Amino acid sequence: MKLNQLKLDNSYVRELPADPDAHNGSRQIYAASYSRIHPTPVKSPQLLACSAETAALLGLDESECHTRHFAEVFGGNALLPAMQPYAACYGGHQFGHWAGQLGDGRAINLGEVINPHGQRWTLQLKGAGRTPYSRGADGRAVLRSSVREFLCSEAMHHLGIPTTRALSLVATGDGVLRDMFYDGRPQIEPGAIVCRVAPSFTRFGNFELFAHRGDRHTLRLLADYTIRHDFPELLAADATPTSETYLAWFREIVRRTAEMIVHWMRVGFVHGVMNTDNMSILGLTIDYGPYGWLEGYDPHWTPNTTDAQGRRYCFGSQPQIGEWNLVRLANALRPLVGATEPLQEALLAYQHDYDQAYDGIMVAKLGLKNHQGHSDDVLIEAMHSMLSLTETDYILFFRALADLPDGHDDETLLNIISPAWYAPHEVQNEVRHGILDWLHAYLKRRSQDGRDTAKRRAAMHAVNPKYVLRNYLAQQAIDRAENGDTSMISELLNLLRQPYADQPDNEHYAAKRPEWARVKAGCSMLSCSS
Ligand code: AMP
Ligand code: MG
Repeated sequence: MKLNQLKLDNSYVRELPADPDAHNGSRQIYAASYSRIHPTPVKSPQLLACSAETAALLGLDESECHTRHFAEVFGGNALLPAMQPYAACYGGHQFGHWAGQLGDGRAINLGEVINPHGQRWTLQLKGAGRTPYSRGADGRAVLRSSVREFLCSEAMHHLGIPTTRALSLVATGDGVLRDMFYDGRPQIEPGAIVCRVAPSFTRFGNFELFAHRGDRHTLRLLADYTIRHDFPELLAADATPTSETYLAWFREIVRRTAEMIVHWMRVGFVHGVMNTDNMSILGLTIDYGPYGWLEGYDPHWTPNTTDAQGRRYCFGSQPQIGEWNLVRLANALRPLVGATEPLQEALLAYQHDYDQAYDGIMVAKLGLKNHQGHSDDVLIEAMHSMLSLTETDYILFFRALADLPDGHDDETLLNIISPAWYAPHEVQNEVRHGILDWLHAYLKRRSQDGRDTAKRRAAMHAVNPKYVLRNYLAQQAIDRAENGDTSMISELLNLLRQPYADQPDNEHYAAKRPEWARVKAGCSMLSCSS
């Protein structure tokens, strides 16, 4: 359908309390879920990329994305007649500390599209100008971080990982001043706007803010709205939520959060800023900032330079941070549940949910039919130690493992794994022995599994992606886009549509990170400045 034919609704605006003050200045906003605010127009909006799949979710013809009108709407210069734009009010814990009110400081929601299947999708522009939540910042986003958000949202979706989606990437034609290295040398960078799409962008922090202020009334309104629209299965028709409903809802958020993080661990994704304002109440990966993909396996790795000291949000800490964040949410929902104990019980389920899913996914990555208790725990533990013996590419290792033949000599086995090593010359003596010990233990376990070779290989390929948005690939696409050539954005978008497939023409995109990218900004380290 055409852009003008989209069926729009504004349930968030209609059903939740608004900030009565129309003034667009940074301030504290009480007893309201949102403030009405229009995007600030930009100089010359121009579409750089769009996702056909996300357009299809909305029921929108892809050809519509290439019209002038589309660039005007998704660059923030025009509204469709039914749109009632707003910025949401939320708070959050940042790096372990309560940060007070945060809110959509540069995200502006345009309303909800009801697609032909009756599904509701909220449209949100990121980088569309100041809002009452901007706290002195400019409300804008730069091209580099917008390219990263656009590509990664879609890549995660194609990997089968719950995520917010991206419809479009629009260059604004305006410059944005950013101090990328926080070294007092700000530069003008090209600005851009991504249109994100999700059933809702509500975060743990939306509930935390009302609870923190003792505003039970608004807390309940938002909880009821969320349950009504996004968790209707928890509610009998026309019923009002009870303390049991809120508890069942929390239990479901626990389940979804654990599931999302297991997926991240499966593919080597590091979110980078797991503050509670960046945790979706729907269990979606949200807010792609200084995220990164593990290249060499290292549980302590974080792409976020702001977190380089504490490594709070490093790869290996993500599961426990998920739990820490859920504890914050449980505290916020306590006034609705009315008791602490059942929330604590629900929290206990997190570790159980996570461990079960993690065990399942790790044996699947190894091509085994099921997890057989303690001996498999030992094998998986030993694998992590083995991967740390020499820098080993997390993605290439599992793809190589699928090709490991039975009953071959040591040299052949090592040759198959060697493309995953960053420093093959290190693989001697104890390192070599350590790797071989594990490979033999693995082959022994695998032979007991008695699975047909071709079937096992296919099953491994279905959970171990070959193509991910390697940090240096995203940076190459950005460097080119900043010079006016957006072809690599479309090329990567296309590549990442089939992350599990062998794509013979695209072998080079499955290559290890080149040495030059080890220390280049944007390739292995990212700042929060975006
Ligand atoms: P983040 O760390 O990106 O999740 O952002 C934390 C908070 O800062 C959120 O409330 C954002 O909306 C806000 N924020 C980040 N960058 C900007 C910006 N350029 N202008 C206004 N608000 C911003
Ligand atoms: Mg955020």
